[in-house]
Amino acid sequence: MRELILIHESAIRLSFFVGILAVMAAWEALAPRRPASLGRWARWPSNLGIVALNTVVVRLLLPTTAVSLALVGEREGWGLLHHFALPGWAALPLALIALDLVVYLQHVMVHAVPLLWRLHRVHHADLHFDVTTGARFHPIEIVLSMLIKLAAILVIGPSPEAVAVFEVLLNATAMFNHGNVRLPAAVDRWLRWIVVTPDMHRVHHSVEDDETNSNFGFNLPWWDRLFGTYRDQPRGGHAGMTIGIRGFRDPGQVDRLPGMLALPFRGKVTDYAINRRQWARPEQTHPQKG
Ligand SMILES: [Zn+2]
Ligand SMILES: [Zn+2]
Repeated sequence: MRELILIHESAIRLSFFVGILAVMAAWEALAPRRPASLGRWARWPSNLGIVALNTVVVRLLLPTTAVSLALVGEREGWGLLHHFALPGWAALPLALIALDLVVYLQHVMVHAVPLLWRLHRVHHADLHFDVTTGARFHPIEIVLSMLIKLAAILVIGPSPEAVAVFEVLLNATAMFNHGNVRLPAAVDRWLRWIVVTPDMHRVHHSVEDDETNSNFGFNLPWWDRLFGTYRDQPRGGHAGMTIGIRGFRDPGQVDRLPGMLALPFRGKVTDYAINRRQWARPEQTHPQKG
């Protein structure tokens, strides 16, 4: 099992990516949640292009993969889970939960810190919300995410198998919960107790700042409920809400690869962060009562 994962890691991940992309693309065509504001031909080459670019950048810039680092950590006994020598059946779920918490906290951080929001807004600037939105991140944010993940592996001490499972799971759930797909309301209500659903994550892609700063989870939905960032539905409803970022509405820029790569470098540093609202008047976000 271990040899299989180590030798074929790239092929395994690529197969899951392509397989889930195909399933979600078919589901989106058969039962779309919202009409597309832009066709696939206008967005997909750039959204998938940045995924290919990121794969090359990570390979070139980083000296190790997450799985390889976990292997070294295990040999050396680094990290909490190795320190306490937990049995595999307990260590695997704990590792998955701990890594997912790190991803949640990192996501809150990239919304809160102005400089990091500039990178992360590439993910949010997509004018439509579908399976490919889930994979579009600026290369600098991808490298930063990888460095945080490597640091988390050193501290947590997951097994290489746990890291491999986590990477495939995170990728799979991110593609699922960005799907422009329709789920029966009752199914969505139950499912969002165990995994972030498309309706739950779509709230996070609203142009409204209080909605964008909600539902940061990518995988497990519990963190948002636990830390107070959970929001059930968008005010405008899923059909009526506007996706994207105010002030970045030109498809030729936000949904084309050169524009996406340049997006972090546009505008003032203070353009937007979690506590620096520039467009909403106080009475709109905090209605005065009485
Ligand atoms: Zn976000
Ligand atoms: Zn997203």
